Amino acid sequence: MTVSTTAEPSSRYLADPGHGTAFTDHLVTARWSADTGWQDLALGPLRELSLHPGTSALHYGQAVFEGLKAFVQQDGGVAVFRPRDNAARFARSAARLAMPVLPDELFMTALDLLVRADAPWLTDNPQHALYVRPLMFASEVNLLMREATEFTFVLMAFVAAGYFGDGAGPVTVMIARDHARALPGGTGDVKCAANYAPTLLTQRRAREAGCQQVVWLDPDERRWVEELGAMNLFFVVDGALVTPRLTGNFLPGITRDTLLALAARAGYEVRERPVSVDDWREGCRSGAITETFACGTAATVTPIGRVRDGDGAFTVGTGNEGPVTAALRTALLDAQHGRLPDVSHWLH
Ligand code: PMP
Repeated sequence: MTVSTTAEPSSRYLADPGHGTAFTDHLVTARWSADTGWQDLALGPLRELSLHPGTSALHYGQAVFEGLKAFVQQDGGVAVFRPRDNAARFARSAARLAMPVLPDELFMTALDLLVRADAPWLTDNPQHALYVRPLMFASEVNLLMREATEFTFVLMAFVAAGYFGDGAGPVTVMIARDHARALPGGTGDVKCAANYAPTLLTQRRAREAGCQQVVWLDPDERRWVEELGAMNLFFVVDGALVTPRLTGNFLPGITRDTLLALAARAGYEVRERPVSVDDWREGCRSGAITETFACGTAATVTPIGRVRDGDGAFTVGTGNEGPVTAALRTALLDAQHGRLPDVSHWLH
């Protein structure tokens, strides 16, 4: 494998990048075919892809992706947070969809090429990060309904500020009662494009009801709280930190895993166990549950202030951000920006 670079440094400045549109100006691409394996990994300028209308992924959804972030460090350098965990999840997602696995070393090479080329896009604004998006899709032009024999990998990046446009203030969420996000034995615990499209109608209804996110329940009993649209959930119950135990139906978030470790490090009791909607509502009513927050690469740590469920609603704690949520967000940002030496192994 030869690795070619055609990068040109860029230092364009973005005052308010939002999330998802402030793309940088480089792209890494690679191709896989059943005959040759992976080849042509290269960094180049960001460009459009030209696709035949019979490209398999457009029809059958054989596509997986990831999301990770690079942050400016104390010394002015740039580091990516836990990229090997994203590489591993990307491989697991690909295997689940009968796609070729991109070896970890190629994933890391691609990441190094892109982040080195696009690091100048990061300013010292502590609210900004470089969000890196790996994507692999079936690029074979063939509409036979079977796994493809040609795939394309692309790695792009954008500058990200906040996921929720109006800051990280408490959000209102809506419990999904009409639809499920995952099905038992399905793909809920991997990151494939096909998991997201069916959630958009519910997401729209939530927005129309004044909610920023949807809470997905387990697909069997529709009783247990699993995750949000692109975030995992934590509850502060009697002072302890509780997050739903992994069921195979929802995504094992890397931020979730990070916060479990950071909370234990900070001396909190941490528990992974099922949490039902009834537990949540009743806990908020009795005062046992004082805080609930969402977490993910994009959303970092975002407090949940109010929960809508059908015609009813309940408030979490005071409805404002609680102290545990604030402390864990600070700890997460400290880890990501290299201010916690004992977890510096998370930084690449
Ligand atoms: N759940 C879903 C459905 C997601 O898409 C994401 C974002 N990747 C998460 C949870 C949070 O995962 P992470 O902390 O790895 O970003």
